[in-house]
Amino acid sequence: MSISNLAAIDAAHHIHPFSDMKALNAKGTRIITRGEGSHIFDSTGKKYLDGFAGLWCVNIGYGRPEIADAVQRQMNELAYYNAFFGTSTPSATLLAEKIASHTEGHLNHVFFTNSGSEATDTWFRMARVYWQAKGQPEKKIVIARRNGYHGSTVAGASLGGMKHMHQQAGSEITGIAHIGQPYWYAEGGELTPHEFGLKAAKELEDKIAELGADKIAAFVAEPIQGAGGVIVPPDSYWPEIQRICTENDILLVADEVICGFGRLGQWFGHQHFKVKPDLAPVAKGLSSGYLPIGAVLISDRVADVMINEVGDFFHGFTYSGHPVSAAAALENLRIIEDEKLVERVRDDIGPYFTKAWKSLEDHDLVGTAENVGLMGALQMAAEKKTRQRFTKADDFGSYVRNVCLENGLVLRATGDRMLASPPLVITEEEVDFMVKVTRLGLDAAW
Ligand code: PLP
Repeated sequence: MSISNLAAIDAAHHIHPFSDMKALNAKGTRIITRGEGSHIFDSTGKKYLDGFAGLWCVNIGYGRPEIADAVQRQMNELAYYNAFFGTSTPSATLLAEKIASHTEGHLNHVFFTNSGSEATDTWFRMARVYWQAKGQPEKKIVIARRNGYHGSTVAGASLGGMKHMHQQAGSEITGIAHIGQPYWYAEGGELTPHEFGLKAAKELEDKIAELGADKIAAFVAEPIQGAGGVIVPPDSYWPEIQRICTENDILLVADEVICGFGRLGQWFGHQHFKVKPDLAPVAKGLSSGYLPIGAVLISDRVADVMINEVGDFFHGFTYSGHPVSAAAALENLRIIEDEKLVERVRDDIGPYFTKAWKSLEDHDLVGTAENVGLMGALQMAAEKKTRQRFTKADDFGSYVRNVCLENGLVLRATGDRMLASPPLVITEEEVDFMVKVTRLGLDAAW
């Protein structure tokens, strides 16, 4: 089949997630055909530096033959068996052990899913079942954050704080409340980041007081809010959140779907912020996107109740712990370990990226350049000193993104923030290219 036909076939038959289909069909789908290292190639042969690692997930970069070999071996040996009714497979069992070995020791148990969204549904049910089993079935409410993202199943969309998702059949689940996000640049006013971090955390305390701690099962947040715009919280925020959850006996859920597996220079994002969650959904970097797989990491505290009090959790997916996905994930984690990619982000390419990314702050359009490890955002501003943002009509984000794309760089735009999340194997030269092309985009928009 001619590859030049693919865009037309796609327009005729393929409905895309999170895409304006009318606009897309008019413009034509970009068909990506190949990947190598930090680069992808489209069907015209054009090469792009993938500054977004696919969808925040291709941590080890594209085209790693070791993963293909591990997958082939597993497929030849056992293409499928499940984890239901008392069985497992070597790869699923060993993967659970391997993941647990990279936590602080208290997240010792793993429940497998196929995606981050399923991981969200899983911990959401588990948190409620946990409190039921402890004789407190009225502890059901889950508090999440406005502008947070936890997936697009009904539970994911309801827990997430995206208004546009709620409007499209996405807030049906009862027992969910939202508080604000720790977005100092936009909402901090005259407060210092430290003061604002405390204020944002206090919103949780106020919400608990309003609803009653005896009605609340859990609080969920991404260590750094990703899809909402890479909102890096002030340092004062997470320790305070931990204190509030502990004092009110509320489970703390860290959504590690983006931050997990090295992106922030630690195995998990909560380790960067020095907090200890009770539950932590993961996906993406677990297999670097080579095959679909997700999981919920479960603390001893919760697992003890699930094992000894609940016994049979009526929950699971045909492909929970799929042996081939698990084999891909195991090999991916081996690569991350052997190539010391987490340490590389913490000590080497992460600091290099910080310096390069920060250099964009001298641009007239950029209010601030933020990042932790290889997760960064450029906040555009109409006026730097007052942190005045552009109005919607002046939103340059998608314009800058398109100029970058034309010049061979994939970045993401969310409103007036440009987002970056490159593969953890990105080189210094590639970081320089990212920054050079981003500057080109900013210049074109200015
Ligand atoms: N949680 C977070 C923080 C995410 O960023 C995402 C996806 O981007 C999800 C959950 C949902 O994961 P998935 O798309 O694999 O269902």
